[in-house]
Amino acid sequence: MHERYFVERVPNYVGGRWTASANPEHVPVTNPATGEPLGAVPMGAASDVNDAVQAARTAFPAWRDIPAQTRARFLFDLRDRMEQNFAELVSICTQEHGKTLEESRGDVRRAIDNVEAACGMPAAMLAAGGALEQIAGGVDCHSVRQPMGVFAVIAPYNFPSMVPFWFLPYAIASGNTVVVKPSEQVPFSQHRLFQLLHETRLPPGVVNLVNGAREVVNGMVEHRDIAGVSFVGSSPVASHVYERCGATGKRVQALGGAKNFAAVMDDCDWEKTVANLVDSAMGCAGQRCLALSAVIGVGQAYGELRRRLPEALGKVNVGYGMDPGVTMGPVISARHRERILAAIDRGQREGATLLVDGRTRKVGAYPRGHWIGPTLFAGVLPEMTVAREEIFGPVLCLMQAADIDEALRMVHAHPLANASSVYTSSGAHARRWCREVDASMVGVNIGVAAPMAFFGFGGAKGSFFGDLKAHGREQVQFYTQNKTSIVRWW
Ligand code: NAD
Repeated sequence: MHERYFVERVPNYVGGRWTASANPEHVPVTNPATGEPLGAVPMGAASDVNDAVQAARTAFPAWRDIPAQTRARFLFDLRDRMEQNFAELVSICTQEHGKTLEESRGDVRRAIDNVEAACGMPAAMLAAGGALEQIAGGVDCHSVRQPMGVFAVIAPYNFPSMVPFWFLPYAIASGNTVVVKPSEQVPFSQHRLFQLLHETRLPPGVVNLVNGAREVVNGMVEHRDIAGVSFVGSSPVASHVYERCGATGKRVQALGGAKNFAAVMDDCDWEKTVANLVDSAMGCAGQRCLALSAVIGVGQAYGELRRRLPEALGKVNVGYGMDPGVTMGPVISARHRERILAAIDRGQREGATLLVDGRTRKVGAYPRGHWIGPTLFAGVLPEMTVAREEIFGPVLCLMQAADIDEALRMVHAHPLANASSVYTSSGAHARRWCREVDASMVGVNIGVAAPMAFFGFGGAKGSFFGDLKAHGREQVQFYTQNKTSIVRWW
């Protein structure tokens, strides 16, 4: 039913042509559930970056001269091609990442949403400037937003289609050219999407793809012909990218890691809340930057959560995302699985109570999968490592607060601040959480507070380095600079 996607050596796409990396070192990529080989990805080289940047730089002057609505037509075409190939893109995502088909549908759908939002870029609300006449006798003033040149897009592994498409459509719609580097752990979705981009007959060099790992990233942040960088990944790398871009005079937006807290009030709707919490924490096997990984039971709610969560977690059906009825897939790699297991061990050693233990979970039909079952700690204290560090796996920490003030203090004490949620039937509690919590994406009775393509996406504090967020209007601002002309005709 779902054909295996296999690319023996994933090529780069530079100047409208598929090319081999200058680095002969290739690393095999396998399906994280079945262990089947999917192909191999090059580790990349600085000269790959250079070739792609030169192609993008050469394409820029002609591309920026094409009227905005004509540029947008390429994106309308791309959108149609993504819809026509939707099922295949979904299948590739599940094969390379391991998430369920339903989750992959969300991944590809969100990528399309961003293409659609960028199709509207010529519209006044997104890209237009402003004008004021007669600012002095016979003098008018007008401002426009202009593209800046070549932008680099660097992505993490957890949303193979969506995350690069938070950026690429807006960058090219606004007249820039781009070089995308997908995660070396999931190179195939972008490989297929670049085939679709190729079919739109975009002028060569407008979009370029360079595969690889840290050497490619470092080549990008140091490159003098790159005007700006959009990065998504863990906070230590985001911070490094931000610093190097600052030092080399680039525009930068670097979205980092997360430790998302929810407060559960005892006036919540219990059935819906518990189901929603499980979905949020275990979806994509916890590998989502919006996943709730710490739940604070406020007052009586703590005991209720302790009683209800184990049973609800027992219903999570772990397996290969292609198989019917599966609600949670594997984690991305053996190495990441080891990291998560070590975090669980540490939680136990530090005195948290392991209420549900997923460490030994196996899925019989797939002995080579990177399996971990849903895991729940109770009695977690803010100073414990499981409460402080991003685990990025199916591990939920249950904490206790006496009241909403203490819950807010616990959240605010954490250095990361991506998303946060509150579960309650009280408007007053919900309003307070929305106003006061220091995360930038907030859910009320929603466990994955994901802004749609028209609203800014990105966190605060140690979860975000930069100023303008991803998506929509802010993204257009990031990819353009203002020019103001003061005009007098004699
Ligand atoms: P990662 O930081 O390991 O990798 C991200 C990118 O940086 C990859 O393309 C990788 O090749 C590159 N990279 C890795 N190490 C590097 C280094 N030392 N120097 C230079 N480049 C390097 O992240 P990941 O494991 O792929 O993704 C998971 C992380 O991404 C989590 O921390 C998650 O919270 C975060 N994330 C954040 C958001 C958000 O919106 N804030 C969204 C998705 C994922």
